Amino acid sequence: MDDSSLKSGRSRGRPSQYEEGGPARREIMFMAARLYYESRKLKRMECPACRRFLPTLRERVARRCPLCRADWAVTELTRLTQEDVAALLESPTFAPSRSEIQRLIGEAQDDGILQIHVLRAQEDHELADCRDELLSVFPGLLEARVVKGREDLFDLDALKAHTAESIRPVRNAVLVPAARAAAELILGILHKHLEEGKEPTLCISWGYVVHLIADALRPAEAMPAVTVAPFVGALTAHPFEANVYDSNLLAQQVSEQFHSEERALWLASPAFVRHEGERDSLTKCILVQEVLEQIRKAHVVTFSIAPADEDNSTLVERGLLKREDVLLVKRNGAIGEIAGHFFDQNGRPVSGVYPIGLGLDPLRDLVSNRRAVVTLVAADRRRVEPLRAAIRGGLVNILVTDHLTAKTLVTQA
Ligand SMILES: [Zn+2]
Repeated sequence: MDDSSLKSGRSRGRPSQYEEGGPARREIMFMAARLYYESRKLKRMECPACRRFLPTLRERVARRCPLCRADWAVTELTRLTQEDVAALLESPTFAPSRSEIQRLIGEAQDDGILQIHVLRAQEDHELADCRDELLSVFPGLLEARVVKGREDLFDLDALKAHTAESIRPVRNAVLVPAARAAAELILGILHKHLEEGKEPTLCISWGYVVHLIADALRPAEAMPAVTVAPFVGALTAHPFEANVYDSNLLAQQVSEQFHSEERALWLASPAFVRHEGERDSLTKCILVQEVLEQIRKAHVVTFSIAPADEDNSTLVERGLLKREDVLLVKRNGAIGEIAGHFFDQNGRPVSGVYPIGLGLDPLRDLVSNRRAVVTLVAADRRRVEPLRAAIRGGLVNILVTDHLTAKTLVTQA
């Protein structure tokens, strides 16, 4: 019997609970990915501190000695092989082969449990210079964070080779670190308010980028005194629809992560209506009015900024707006939007569609009152001009971006 038939014989004995898609399968994917990418083992069989022999792999998969408790230096440690991971995960009911581990890690990546980002080494001082330059060129900005961008995302010809599917992981290589930076900033500001004895409100918009921030908003300790509220009403009547990054749903998710569910707010209205009168009567409903009043006093607001574009609009794609609606607001001068609130090149609101949400004038008031209005715009050249208009128009005072967006903003200011 050759080696490969032996291995397949072992995995045939695998109980059905580990079959693809099951919760046990996801758990084992998670464990395999963690062991492979995050764990380290001692290179040698003996402890460099006490010199005692450590015969089992389990004893050596650690950062310190199980016998003398000495911390092992990083240089004494090495990554686990897939064979090591297989051995560590072996149990009486589950005996994975090395190729099974490889498959589990691949599945973890497809599932999104594991994300791999290919980045050049971050040139920290260059990024810090970029930040300083942003702050000096745009006096309206109170704070900025700059992460490393990718040239290929700024090259419109290179982008043509991509599909909407294939571009996402490339964009994530920039957006995920930027979302982490934004989340870190937001948590820091909320902490400061809490330390001062305040009960701050965080108002959160919608969309893919904001969902990345929401995922990263995981405080080390619970924040039960923070109210999390949506920026705008509901995008959809189908909350379980795939990839709905709805403002209400993201606010719920974040309040769960903060353990502040009791304070979470829900804006019980559609995100848009088509007539001014309809908007006015809806915003007078107590259920809606109360939430709007609360978000107009928010301590922290976060959103991304998109161009007004009838061909690449999530709102049009989801049937919330018609193509003609976007063409209409563009004729009225719109160049960008924040959660469906369209604005012109000076950041002034444009009429044509009527969002039910925070509103641009109240947003500008928050900026004037030096509340933290945090936007994340990165990895997309089409968003630079709307971003510039929003900064110029006083709709934002904290920017998280990548160095290429920052350079474009600064050189054409
Ligand atoms: Zn030792």
